[in-house]
Amino acid sequence: MSLTLADARIVTPEGVHEGWLTIEDGRITHVGHGSAPGSGLSLGGRHVVPGFVDIHNHGGAGGSFPTGEQDQARDAVALHRRHGTTTTMASLVTASIDELTRAASALAELCEEGLLAGIHFEGPYISKARCGAHNPTLLREPSPQEFAGLMKAGRGHVRMVTIATELPGALDTIRLAAAEGVIAALGHSDADYDQTLAGIEAGGSVATHLYNAMPPLGHRAPGPVVALLEDERVTVELINDGVHVHPAMLRLAYEVAGPGRTTLITDAMAATGLGDGDYVLGSMRVRVDDGVARLVEGGSIAGATLTMDVAFRRSVQEVGMSLPDAVQVASLTPARVLGLADRIGSIAVGKAADLVVLSDSLEVAGVMKDGVWITEPR
Ligand SMILES: [Zn+2]
Repeated sequence: MSLTLADARIVTPEGVHEGWLTIEDGRITHVGHGSAPGSGLSLGGRHVVPGFVDIHNHGGAGGSFPTGEQDQARDAVALHRRHGTTTTMASLVTASIDELTRAASALAELCEEGLLAGIHFEGPYISKARCGAHNPTLLREPSPQEFAGLMKAGRGHVRMVTIATELPGALDTIRLAAAEGVIAALGHSDADYDQTLAGIEAGGSVATHLYNAMPPLGHRAPGPVVALLEDERVTVELINDGVHVHPAMLRLAYEVAGPGRTTLITDAMAATGLGDGDYVLGSMRVRVDDGVARLVEGGSIAGATLTMDVAFRRSVQEVGMSLPDAVQVASLTPARVLGLADRIGSIAVGKAADLVVLSDSLEVAGVMKDGVWITEPR
């Protein structure tokens, strides 16, 4: 069965054009300019962008990936899909090795099912000085042997691990991850510029939420931020919610790294989509007030309540990105980081029909995953 979407403004990394596209068996089979040859579903001139890809997400709709509870993971994925995220990585937070093993094993089943794109261990191999909302009593020194056990629990679905590169054992663990095809992300780190370069040399290729949970930029101490921004091998994650990073600092990072090395993430936690109240992130108590999640003890920012549609819209409206650049940072670049850019991440013939229809004000008006509407265009 084939479906044609007509009278659309199609956004690709190369530009925006008025045209149409055809979908068959969950894939995009034609992308055309002008008016469609046959009849089709008119989108009334609205924008169509590729489904968003979120490589750092802890949950939503009350569901939390770190619990390893499959029903909670399903609720979270469903919420983010309604907001245009068609590919989601499940991020775990610091917990005991037993708990992480159990959660990874449970979530691996959901990866096998196609619900999740992989598992990310954001802890426990991170710095006590920069642990943010992670439980400081459960942090550990990175160990290749121990990490090999966690990878085994994930049955090939562990896709990323965040490591503070200055810790004993960090460089060996980064090397092991990179050799196994697992993305070594540098972050939650107190490293200086040179220590960060060593982490990149060892195979670190992503910056876990650049700026957040690392030393700030200093003119005599450039720190991790400059090392991560200037190295062509590194893609930087940014939380574009207006709370974690000032729009001007986000613009600075994006202008240095460019859309090919910048990826938007949500870092969303369970409260996303629910509103203010009391929640937990891993073993830590969190209160959400005015949409901002903070630890009850100490007040550290504890993840975000962001969705990718909002991050995308802010990139255009607050940061000043063009639409073609915004689809890169929200879809194509994270797809490339995951090694999935041949299948998802842009509107192109042969790729999955993962699409988001946007209103003139860039609000989500429809979402399609693998050729099936999650939300039909209104
Ligand atoms: Zn996180």
